[in-house]
Order: sequence, then structure tokens, then C-alpha cells
Amino acid sequence: MTIPLDGNSAAGLLREVFGAEMTAAIGRCDSCGSTAELAQAIVFDAAPGVVLRCRACEAVVARIVRSPEKVWLDLRGISYLQFDLPQS
Ligand SMILES: [Zn+2]
Repeated sequence: MTIPLDGNSAAGLLREVFGAEMTAAIGRCDSCGSTAELAQAIVFDAAPGVVLRCRACEAVVARIVRSPEKVWLDLRGISYLQFDLPQS
């Protein structure tokens, strides 16, 4: 039995993959159309990777698998992802 976490538990991995703080990024679930911050996602991290699910409909919105050298990023469950550009 895996205990789900919230999106903040994936903050470090998301920051590493995107090079920016992503928990405040807004994603639109491709399954139900709801929008929410990634921090609101339901996170399962016991698989060989991290799975983010929509809090509204529980559809898989993102899967991230990381090896020491590479990352696999499956975002097919998110129809868009909106986040602030770094300010210089
Ligand atoms: Zn949804």
C-alpha cells in the first residue's frame, strides 16, 4: 500500500527537471479540464519514478523517471502547464 503525498513532495525533482520552482505552476488536467497548482497534485513516489495524479479526477497527469544520467518526462495528462519565467 502506497501512501499518496502532495505535489510539494516532488518539488525537488521538478526543480531539477525544469530548472525552476514548479510547485506553483498551473497545470490543466487533460482528462477532466480542471486547473490546479502542481503542489495540489496527488503524488506517488514508490514506483520506479514519480507519478502525479489530478486531485479532482485522479487521472495520471505526469510521470517522471530519473536515472543518474537521464530523465524521462511523460506529460501527456497535462493539456498545458503555465509558469512564470525567471526574472533577470
Ligand atoms: Zn482531472
